[in-house]
Amino acid sequence: MTETFVKIKAKYSDKMKKGNPIVLKEAIVDTDHLESEGMIIRLVDEHDHFIGKGYYGKQNKGYGWILTRKENEQINNEFFYNKIMNAIQFRKPFFEDKETTAFRVFNGEGDGIGGLIIDYYDGYYVISWYSLGIYQFKDSIIEALKDLVIYKGIYQKKRFAEDGKYLEEDDFVTGERGEFPLIVKENGASFAVYLNDGAMVGVFLDQREVRKAIRDRYANGKHVLNTFSYTGAFSVFAALGGAAKTTSVDLANRSRSKTIEQFSINGIDYEAQDIIVEDVFHYFKYAVKKQLTFDLVILDPPSFARSKKVTFSAAKDYTNLLKQAISITEDDGVIVASTNSASFDMKKFKGFIDKAFHDSGGKYKILEEHTLPADFKTIKEYEEGNYLKVVFVKKIK
Ligand code: SAH
Repeated sequence: MTETFVKIKAKYSDKMKKGNPIVLKEAIVDTDHLESEGMIIRLVDEHDHFIGKGYYGKQNKGYGWILTRKENEQINNEFFYNKIMNAIQFRKPFFEDKETTAFRVFNGEGDGIGGLIIDYYDGYYVISWYSLGIYQFKDSIIEALKDLVIYKGIYQKKRFAEDGKYLEEDDFVTGERGEFPLIVKENGASFAVYLNDGAMVGVFLDQREVRKAIRDRYANGKHVLNTFSYTGAFSVFAALGGAAKTTSVDLANRSRSKTIEQFSINGIDYEAQDIIVEDVFHYFKYAVKKQLTFDLVILDPPSFARSKKVTFSAAKDYTNLLKQAISITEDDGVIVASTNSASFDMKKFKGFIDKAFHDSGGKYKILEEHTLPADFKTIKEYEEGNYLKVVFVKKIK
């Protein structure tokens, strides 16, 4: 395959030589000759010294990913086959675990190919393509996966179309079509997932260990508030862990039926739980007015969200969100503060927590911390890839 030379600015080349795999737009001296996504690019520094080889594909702030640092390695079928084979071997304990049948098989740059994600749901595989560039390699990648695993069916998500229009297309690739909801297991609990219904399937697999911690160590006998609850996955684990009651709050209309479904397939009486479709920020005001308090408050907002009146940005507004949570948390209660924002690190996140308690005039103790689980493999050279930060904080009088 022909390779196009791409010169990298001095400011960026050192970091890239040390293993940082992303090719940022602003790192490229001249983007003019980047013609078609999926073309192989050979990156060189300002003295024309080799940095690495990769592909051109637009994804957020990136213009592509480095795939190899070996000058003579070819990006061909064998290359993709080996990367996927290694990723599958790394997940052997997950494939063998009968209690958990949904996990990540391939995690982008963590497994050596930025822009490519593959998830497993009880015999079904879902491939997410994050750029038109990586999508150009679809034949090699799908063939490799078909050779390497026993599958019931393969689905795909084209997450690169700006208006999301591809997500409405039929995203079935091959094998047999699933019947949805498909019921997968996670540490013995059940989740209903839909692999054929837009970008999100119904559960975020990266929170598996947090859900387990809530069920096994924090929920028993507690009144639990789950904000930004989506399909209620945290509420399900809290209820399974013996919560006195769960309250789930999400703005999206469909969160109610989705949450009822998740409770029901786990044998939980959803009528004994509160499921509220409302803006979380309104709910906090309501709770303060009605003097409602909770023993366990879960905060898992999106990095960025716009509702009718408020714009929420985790980087700017997390401290404020925490303050509102603190005001309705019992003394000795626990706040599970979670964020998937890649724009700040754990240290800064703990700074938000510290400031929120300081401003609220209270003390706190950090009980435990979580980042991504093992199947969400990351590399130390790309810190943004390790986006998840979850801190369990006890409110002390
Ligand atoms: N905690 C969930 C995932 C949250 S995804 C889980 O573990 O499964 C983010 C959710 O926040 C979405 O469901 C979205 O509808 C909701 N959301 C965004 N802004 C909101 C707001 N202001 N109030 C309530 N929910 C909001």
